Amino acid sequence: MRIASLCSSSAANSSYIGSADSGVLVDVGCSYKSLLNRLSLCRTDISAVKVVLITHEHTDHIKGLKQFTKHSDVPVYASRKTGEFLLAGGHISKRENLFELSELGRIPADFEIKAFRTPHDSVESVGFSFVAPSGYKIAYFTDLGEITDSVREGAKGADFVFIEANYAPDVLAGNALYPAYVKERIASPVGHLSNDDSALYISHLVSNGTTRVMLAHLSRENNSPKRAFVAVAGKLSERGMRLNRDYTLDVAGVDNTAGEYIAV
Ligand SMILES: [Zn+2]
Ligand SMILES: [Zn+2]
Repeated sequence: MRIASLCSSSAANSSYIGSADSGVLVDVGCSYKSLLNRLSLCRTDISAVKVVLITHEHTDHIKGLKQFTKHSDVPVYASRKTGEFLLAGGHISKRENLFELSELGRIPADFEIKAFRTPHDSVESVGFSFVAPSGYKIAYFTDLGEITDSVREGAKGADFVFIEANYAPDVLAGNALYPAYVKERIASPVGHLSNDDSALYISHLVSNGTTRVMLAHLSRENNSPKRAFVAVAGKLSERGMRLNRDYTLDVAGVDNTAGEYIAV
């Protein structure tokens, strides 16, 4: 199984999870052209995408969906309210290609997929877990203001965690370009996880068996890969967990133009 973050930031998000020739796309937040390009850089053809999963309806997660569904009859799965939004906005061209998350169990994928609710200011946002036949578990969640019981349940036992580290609190606080209400929204319980929020939860996950972590959905304006990395590695070190001994840490790039993916 491979995990390729194709694009990841507050501006555009999409990932591919699966084998080289069969897998799922989580969100279609970059343009269709970029999506094809990023997939091919990762040596994956668009025909490998058997299913699309949508976490929520914010533009940075569905910007390329309308074009994608014009070109493809691949089934799209979303929560009921998110699905209604997608249909009303014409992001899904055929109603019969839209499925509810309650039907996830029927996906003929190479792994078991489950959804869990995430606290975010969208109509009905979710994260996903993927469990391979070997038992290897990936938990995937971005766009959440805090860690709730539903998230804990979804991420429980995960070997690999793809988790948001959206902003550095001091950078956000000092960002003169962001009005106060936007800063409050980002830092609220239905906004985004800061590096510190993420670090604290990752320390819990790693002490409970998670061995690989990828930080994602970094704000380009209020964070940097180095800040996120240092915040997380520092917190885990404080708690006695050592990088590359107890866990590995990667940061998803804004645009995956290097064709990188993690094989698990
Ligand atoms: Zn987002
Ligand atoms: Zn969002």
